[in-house]
Amino acid sequence: MAQALIIVDVQHDFCPGGALATDQGDEVAHRIGELQLSPAVADYDYVVTTQDWHIDPDDHFDTWPVHCEADSPGAQLHPAIQQDKISARFYKGQHSAAYSGFEGSNEAGQLLAEWLRDRGVSHLDICGIATHYCVRATVLDALKEGFQVRVLRDLCSAVNEDTGKTALQEMQKAGASLG
Ligand SMILES: [Zn+2]
Repeated sequence: MAQALIIVDVQHDFCPGGALATDQGDEVAHRIGELQLSPAVADYDYVVTTQDWHIDPDDHFDTWPVHCEADSPGAQLHPAIQQDKISARFYKGQHSAAYSGFEGSNEAGQLLAEWLRDRGVSHLDICGIATHYCVRATVLDALKEGFQVRVLRDLCSAVNEDTGKTALQEMQKAGASLG
């Protein structure tokens, strides 16, 4: 059984100072970076990131302020994330809204679920931003795809406390465990 850590959308635009900031973004980014540098990271066979990466995302920018435009500073991973300790990066939302990391593909065009299955990954720990949006969508898709999922709640940043809590309950109901 292989296990992967999925770091969802820990990008500048979702952290303080960014276009769609969450309050805890910096803190969560630092905690994830610390995990990547701690002995506990040995539990993971792979560490994967997802990034919102918009080129022309249809009406997505009617719903939200412009954010995470492909290659822009706002779309970069938070500097606390240890980029030399990432196994693969997945990009989503190029031409439409995409909340789930499972809509993302890597530079070779491979989808996240397929990439994980190719490597025998069955267990996922998921963390990132924002709890109620992209983390939630990624977790629900992971469960649908048949993965065992744990949400690392202290490593998630919510838009606000209430929606964050509701989302965690919903993910738990759907079959995720909370860590
Ligand atoms: Zn977006």
